[in-house]
Amino acid sequence: MSGVTLQNVIKRYGDVQVIHGIDLEIKDGEFCVFVGPSGCGKSTLLRMVAGLEETTAGAMTIGERDVTAMDPAERGVAMVFQTYALYPHMTVKENMGFGLKMNGHPKAEIAEKVAEATRILKLEEYLDRKPAALSGGQRQRVSIGRAIVRGPEVFLFDEPLSNLDAELRVEMRVEIARLHKEIGATMIYVTHDQVEAMTLADKIVVLRSGRIEQVGAPLDLYRDPDNKFVAGFIGSPAMNFLDGVVKNGQVEVPGLQASVSVPVTLPAEGTEVTLGVRPEHITIDPAGDTHSIDLTEALGGTSYAYLMSSTGEKIIVEEHGDDRSLAGGRVGITFPAERTMLFDRKTEARLR
Ligand code: ADP
Ligand code: MG
Repeated sequence: MSGVTLQNVIKRYGDVQVIHGIDLEIKDGEFCVFVGPSGCGKSTLLRMVAGLEETTAGAMTIGERDVTAMDPAERGVAMVFQTYALYPHMTVKENMGFGLKMNGHPKAEIAEKVAEATRILKLEEYLDRKPAALSGGQRQRVSIGRAIVRGPEVFLFDEPLSNLDAELRVEMRVEIARLHKEIGATMIYVTHDQVEAMTLADKIVVLRSGRIEQVGAPLDLYRDPDNKFVAGFIGSPAMNFLDGVVKNGQVEVPGLQASVSVPVTLPAEGTEVTLGVRPEHITIDPAGDTHSIDLTEALGGTSYAYLMSSTGEKIIVEEHGDDRSLAGGRVGITFPAERTMLFDRKTEARLR
C-alpha cells in the first residue's frame, strides 16, 4: 500500500507563507492531479512530497511510513519535471539506467529494468540515440522511463507536457493515462491545464493561493462546484457569470433584462449574487435583443459565439452542427433555470 496523506501541511519561506495547512488523502494507485493558476503552490506542494522542499509544519505519510523528515532518496518517489534534464552525452539507454548504475545495482538488473521501461514507453527504436536526436515528446518519454526504472511507489509529475506542442501534448496525455493503467502506481500530477486535469485524474485537487478550494472526481467538480472559483476553473470554455440580485423570490439579472427562478434556497431579498451558466447550456434566441454578437469562432462540429450584454457582461455560447450565429447581429439568450448555479457575490460560495 502506498497512498499519500498530508496532514495540516504548511510551507513558509522566511516570513512568507505559501502553503496554508493542506489536508489530503491520496489512495494507493490513485491518479491525483493538483490544478490551479500559476503561483498557487502546486510545485511547492509536490516538491514537499518529493522531499525537495522542507515541510515547515504538519505531517506526511507514504504508505505506512511517516516521511515528513526523510531525504528524497528514502521516500520511494520518482519525479518527472517539465524540463527533461537528460544527460546530453549519454544514449537513451544510458540515461535511463544511470540512476541505478550510480546506486550500484548489478548490470543484469539494470538491463532488465531498462528493457521493461523501454517496452512500456515504446522506445525500442531510440535506445542508442542521444537526446539531441530526439523530439520533445521522445525526450519526455525517456525522462519518464528514468522514473519507471527506479520502481517508485509514487510517481510525481510537475507539468511534464508544458514544453510540448499542442499535438504532442494530446498524444503524451494519452500515453500517461495508459502508463498509469499499466503500472497502477500512485501518481501525483501537477498542471495548470484544466483539460489535462479532467482527462487524467481520478481525483482533482483545485488549489488557489496555497489553499485547497475543492477535492473531487473530475465530473463531480464540473457538475457540483462548491464555489465560483472552482466553477470558473473547471470546464472549457469557462462558465459565464452574470451579476444579479435577489428580488421577489427570484434572481433579477440586469444583463438579461429578466428574472430567473433559480431552484435553490435563496438568501435574503436584496443580496447580491452571481448567476453562473455554462456555454454549453445556453441557446441563442434570434428573436431576442439583449446581446450583441461580437465574434464567432467555427471549429467544425462546435462553434463559439462571443456575446456582450448592454450592461457590458461577456457571454460565451457553445453551438453545435450547422446552427451557428453570425457576428454583428443582436440576439437574446435562453437557458434552463435548473442548469444555472448561484453564488454569493461577496464570499463566492455556492448557494444551494
Ligand atoms: P505553481 O507551481 O502553482 O505555479 P509555486 O509552487 O512554484 O506555484 O509557487 C507558489 C508560491 O511560492 C509563489 O508565490 C512563489 O513565488 C512562492 N515561492 C516558490 N518558491 C519560493 C522560494 N524559494 N522562495 C520564496 N517564495 C517562493
Ligand atoms: Mg509550478
